[in-house]
Amino acid sequence: MRLENKVALITGGSGGIGRETALLFAQEGAKVVVTDVNDTAGQETADEIVRNGGEAYFLHSDVSKAADCEAAVTFAEEQFGKLNIIFNNAGIMHSDDDNAVTTEEAIWDLTMNINAKGVFLGCKYGIPALQRAGGGSIINTASFVAILGAATPQVAYTASKGAVLALTRELAVIHARENIRVNALCPGPLRTELLMKFLNTEEKKQRRLVHIPMGRFGEAREMAYAALFLASDESSFVTGTDFLVDGGITSAYVTPV
Ligand code: NAD
Repeated sequence: MRLENKVALITGGSGGIGRETALLFAQEGAKVVVTDVNDTAGQETADEIVRNGGEAYFLHSDVSKAADCEAAVTFAEEQFGKLNIIFNNAGIMHSDDDNAVTTEEAIWDLTMNINAKGVFLGCKYGIPALQRAGGGSIINTASFVAILGAATPQVAYTASKGAVLALTRELAVIHARENIRVNALCPGPLRTELLMKFLNTEEKKQRRLVHIPMGRFGEAREMAYAALFLASDESSFVTGTDFLVDGGITSAYVTPV
């Protein structure tokens, strides 16, 4: 029960990392508000928590819309009386996102609006709630691509995740003496729908796997455990970090055969 008496708001909780984290946080005692734009799957995440004896609600909320982000924070406080943990995790990787020459302005804007502005809005409306609660933990999902360049590009996605790292660092410093910690979670390549829908051939998979020392993609559950550490009081001296959970990819030059 590492999150006993805590209330958590998790964006992008319909699938992948968000869903696994919602289930794990609830298992560890947190009351959870799950948000997403996919209502059916989001409700299913909340229902599963309740079936397992936990407390959870789903709320439709588009992280690129200020009113939706504000409403999600208000909803969490109304339902559970306070908010202690915010996991700004929702994100997209668009199939038309490519190099600088070919990527359309509309794809850039869409990606930035969800991946970067979405995290900003989550913090903008979430931080006052954490202040009202006497402190808390914010975890913003970035990516290893914010740290490594790739010749299989998605420039809007990469830039949006770089923005998440910079934003996280600055907010961590601003709020460090208010008992509010702000950290970025940097997953490596994962076996979730977001990436696997692109890596639909063995050749495409191998093009990536050769660079990962562990020789496999990560699992959403492995990100949930990292988020749990950052959310819990066990990480009480951790703030402003780019928390890499990447199978060693950012440390590698030549990988084992
Ligand atoms: P996923 O596609 O399974 O989950 C993302 C969720 O975000 C989905 O449920 C989706 O409906 C939701 N979402 C999309 N747009 C939204 C919006 N405007 N408002 C609210 N919700 C929205 O993918 P995932 O792998 O679990 O990704 C979660 C986060 O992890 C993302 O920020 C992603 O960029 C990041 N990430 C993923 C990988 C990977 O390899 N899968 C690697 C590094 C970082």
